[in-house]
Amino acid sequence: SISADAKPNYTIATDTTYPPFEFQTQNGSYRGIDMDMLKAISKEEGFTYTLKPMSFNAGVQAVQAGQVDGLLAGMSITPERKQSFDFSTPYYKTGVVVAVDGKNKSIKSLDDLKGKKVAVKTGTAGAQYAQSIQKKYDFKLSFFNDSNTMYNDVTVGNTVACFEDQPVMGYAIKQGTTLKVITKPANTGGYGFGVKKGQNAKLLKSFDDGYAKIVKSGEYDKIVSHYVGKGA
Ligand code: GLN
Repeated sequence: SISADAKPNYTIATDTTYPPFEFQTQNGSYRGIDMDMLKAISKEEGFTYTLKPMSFNAGVQAVQAGQVDGLLAGMSITPERKQSFDFSTPYYKTGVVVAVDGKNKSIKSLDDLKGKKVAVKTGTAGAQYAQSIQKKYDFKLSFFNDSNTMYNDVTVGNTVACFEDQPVMGYAIKQGTTLKVITKPANTGGYGFGVKKGQNAKLLKSFDDGYAKIVKSGEYDKIVSHYVGKGA
């Protein structure tokens, strides 16, 4: 039997890979800003969790289907998502940028995408932004389930550009991905931990309370600077 004061165990979905927010290390464990933050928050708040890595889009659907309790995956808080998700306090600034191959000299702005094929990640804020300007700039879309495959598609020249979040694209480029950013961040906002709207209020409150504690103690800043350095 379960005692009344047993720690709750939550099922949390995350992206398979979205560095510096989540990625699998060589020994198979999940690290990154989101993962370290979740660990620290769970300790503060006295809950345990089972991590479920999956494609970002699958994570969104798993929350809505009630198969997982929440999604922590560098998830942008958007007006559209607020219809079906409740979000934590925003914990990181983001915005969508366009990146092209590092050697590409012909595509310098959105206007240069006319008639070209661009890469997006299914179900993301980047894909949504691309779709919102697709008619205006007249490009075609190719969909991917994970960021690495999307970057690679641009590198090999199947698509001329991809739409990705600035902190993630910037980190990948610093780590050696041979792409370059050609636009300023669009649809700027914050990342949040998301639960199904009207569900899991207790988990969401624990997340927010724990987050406030690790911000106050300096642990959150320590986690961020471990991955992206100071002043990020
Ligand atoms: N921040 C983007 C979104 O929320 C992408 C997230 C991701 O690919 N993990 O749609």
